[in-house]
Amino acid sequence: MRVAIIGGGSAGLVTAYLLDRTHDVTVLEKQPILGGHVRTLNGNVLTPLPSHLRLDAGVIEFETRNFPQLMRLFDELGCETRPVRGTTTFYSADGHHHLSPGSMQRAQHPWPQRIRELVDLVGMRVQGMRFEQRTDVAESLAGRPLGDFLTDAPTDRWLALLTTYAYSIPYERVRQVPAALAVPMLHAFLHAESWVSLVGGAWCYLDRILAGLRGPVHTDAHLTSVARDERGVTLTFAGGERARFDKVVFACPPDQTLALLADPSEAEVRRFGAWRANHVHTLVHTDRQPYDRRKLDVATEFDVFELGSGRGGYNAYLNELCGLPADGPQYGLAFGMDEEIRPETVLHRQPHHTPDYTVEAYRWCSEIRATNGERHTLHAGAWLGNGLQEGAICSALAVSDRLGGHRL
Ligand SMILES: Cc1cc2nc3c(=O)[nH]c(=O)nc-3n(C[C@H](O)[C@H](O)[C@H](O)COP(=O)(O)OP(=O)(O)OC[C@H]3O[C@@H](n4cnc5c(N)ncnc54)[C@H](O)[C@@H]3O)c2cc1C
Repeated sequence: MRVAIIGGGSAGLVTAYLLDRTHDVTVLEKQPILGGHVRTLNGNVLTPLPSHLRLDAGVIEFETRNFPQLMRLFDELGCETRPVRGTTTFYSADGHHHLSPGSMQRAQHPWPQRIRELVDLVGMRVQGMRFEQRTDVAESLAGRPLGDFLTDAPTDRWLALLTTYAYSIPYERVRQVPAALAVPMLHAFLHAESWVSLVGGAWCYLDRILAGLRGPVHTDAHLTSVARDERGVTLTFAGGERARFDKVVFACPPDQTLALLADPSEAEVRRFGAWRANHVHTLVHTDRQPYDRRKLDVATEFDVFELGSGRGGYNAYLNELCGLPADGPQYGLAFGMDEEIRPETVLHRQPHHTPDYTVEAYRWCSEIRATNGERHTLHAGAWLGNGLQEGAICSALAVSDRLGGHRL
């Protein structure tokens, strides 16, 4: 069977990996670089930085208990993981900071301060338990935004910032994210066991997949339309060329689907009509100002910041996440923090096009999963699962199951 995969991010490349042994697979990526949100400087992203600096500017870490299929894939590919401490600090707009147990351990503040931090931690835990109680009935989440379940308590604002981190939705809009997507992720965060990153950067596992693929992989592939008939699929490219396939897999963000479908059914218009693009960016930088300004120097694994007037963002500590020594230059990955990061400290600005998760768009996910394969058309993408790497892998496995491909 000839299968075209539109999109060379995690979902597209893992789908290709799973189908490549049984089918003739072609990957079509519109950007000049593969990987989607997997962006490793000096990996898939060429930079003038010294080559030992393999810094992640997108996907960066994985939780082992909640990402079982991804861990299986890493094993199968022989990828080496590195444990990272799951530490985080929440800097609130009113000047307070809230440390996780790991951050406290790392900060080693004098005892009077530690006691205050411990009391604060207990309060945050209680608020976290209240959030879990409010959200423990899965059915009550359907069709509602996360904001319906969040109060103004510090833990709830911290959870909102974690949601910004998970789905790259700006903090100003994060309360609109569907509760059915965000709440299971937040419960998993609250009970996370162990976090890992990949030695050599997140790109390493996709690079291994790429090295073993039989089928062609085209970057700079500019598709203009996808037409289906009874026997298969015709893809048309910007230059007017056409190519025939038996099946097509959309592994691009869902806002692209209707833009490409020449002949969408009414059901497809309904399922994909509400999806919009979310265009954001991350900054790889060496700025310590966000910490110096707050007079607290505990760069933990990822720190979340309220910036006032409803704005906020995060800064991930790349030295720890990417295995660089702590006593050398300090590297960070920031999102939503442009007003705090001085331009002269920015090493790389990485654009990202992600799905804009809204209740209206997300409500069609279960129908899209249930009808996957209709009209020779399949869909893969993290957005069909938990919105993270595990979701991307599970969606690729679902496509592989439908087409008789490899399982992990
Ligand atoms: C900044 C950032 C950090 C993240 N960090 C983590 C993390 O640490 N851990 C984690 O688990 N998840 C993280 N995520 C979530 C991440 O989105 C998913 O884990 C996963 O990488 C998404 O993969 P995907 O293949 O579904 O989508 P994408 O990575 O978006 O891949 C889709 C691909 O389709 C291509 N495409 C788009 N339109 C077309 C078209 N018309 N024709 C052809 N190709 C097209 C795109 O260029 C892209 O390459 C992060 C996301 C972002 C944005």
